[in-house]
Amino acid sequence: MKQFTLPDEVEVLIVGAGPAGLTAANVLSAKGKQILLIDIRKQIGHPLRCGELTFQDIFPIMGFQNREKWVRWNLSDDSEDMVVLNRPVMENDMAREVAEKGVLVIQSTSVTAIGEFKDGKREITLQSNGKQQRLNARLTIIADGVSSATAQLARIETRLTLDEIASCMAYRITGAQLKYPYRFSFQHFMEIRPFYFWVIPSGKDEANVGICVHGSRGHAAAALLDQYIKKSSAIDGGTITDTIVGSFPSAPPLEKPYRDGIMVAGTAARLISADTGDGIIQAALSGRAAAEVYLSLAGEATTEVKLSIYRKKLNYIYQQLYESLDRRMSGER
Ligand SMILES: Cc1cc2nc3c(=O)[nH]c(=O)nc-3n(C[C@H](O)[C@H](O)[C@H](O)COP(=O)(O)OP(=O)(O)OC[C@H]3O[C@@H](n4cnc5c(N)ncnc54)[C@H](O)[C@@H]3O)c2cc1C
Repeated sequence: MKQFTLPDEVEVLIVGAGPAGLTAANVLSAKGKQILLIDIRKQIGHPLRCGELTFQDIFPIMGFQNREKWVRWNLSDDSEDMVVLNRPVMENDMAREVAEKGVLVIQSTSVTAIGEFKDGKREITLQSNGKQQRLNARLTIIADGVSSATAQLARIETRLTLDEIASCMAYRITGAQLKYPYRFSFQHFMEIRPFYFWVIPSGKDEANVGICVHGSRGHAAAALLDQYIKKSSAIDGGTITDTIVGSFPSAPPLEKPYRDGIMVAGTAARLISADTGDGIIQAALSGRAAAEVYLSLAGEATTEVKLSIYRKKLNYIYQQLYESLDRRMSGER
């Protein structure tokens, strides 16, 4: 395994190399900032925990050019502006590209302690490949996904109850007959309302087919998924080649996704649509917003008063997420 020497000090530490963290790293590295990007996983992008359906706009927002191999499938008809990504390939490539631009990217690493904000920085303790190490960071962008364990270390309440979680289970089915190979479908079966069953084509004869249920019914997800696949007219036959499990927050976004020296981005800040589960675009937008706020400070201290502009920059996302929450609560979908 490649050995890294961690620095004693960085300008920006980014925790989590998903769409939010990678976007922040890319935007900051373009301005020559000294960045450390860490991820708890051994391999960035693996295992996949997503349906990978998102908007074409994702690429300019993340600041990367769309590569053919980052897209599994282009949808058409009424879903013209949507694509189905290949997230493992895309995120792995993006991590390599930001590393080439000077970002120090380290896998199998997480934060175990976050100190108080003092002299314009925080002391962060990292656990990296079994070793503990401390460093100082002017800013830590926390983008470690659902129930953010890292934000909790900074005393930001991100724990979720079962009532605030959507549990998901999906299969990649290949060699299937798809009724609409260029269109995704979401079905709101009565039993699982306000959540849903989805068929997201990822090729002419393959799809990501999954289900989201209320957190307390997570144990029933597999049986319900099997039942709906049999019932669905959108897909017929095929072989299960992969199983995907995961969860996302169905609670409102964090009202204050920042503290002195800290910003929380993406699903860690619960920036995900409660009624459709789409969070990739919000992750990228918030990762970009966090990076831009830091750049706008131009060397000023990263106090929470200064960072409060981050929440303002995200106002339109919050507005959409509250509307999505209202739709879910009213069972409109
Ligand atoms: C089954 C499922 C299907 C989904 N389908 C879709 C979809 O089709 N379209 C869509 O838009 N959204 C979908 N979502 C939501 C989407 O996956 C997330 O909103 C999106 O990935 C959020 O990006 P992120 O960068 O905030 O976090 P993530 O993508 O979750 O990335 C977080 C990163 O942080 C790392 N990490 C975690 N903990 C630590 C730690 N303690 N220390 C260091 N690193 C850590 C993880 O390894 C990961 O790489 C789905 C979610 C699920 C569960």
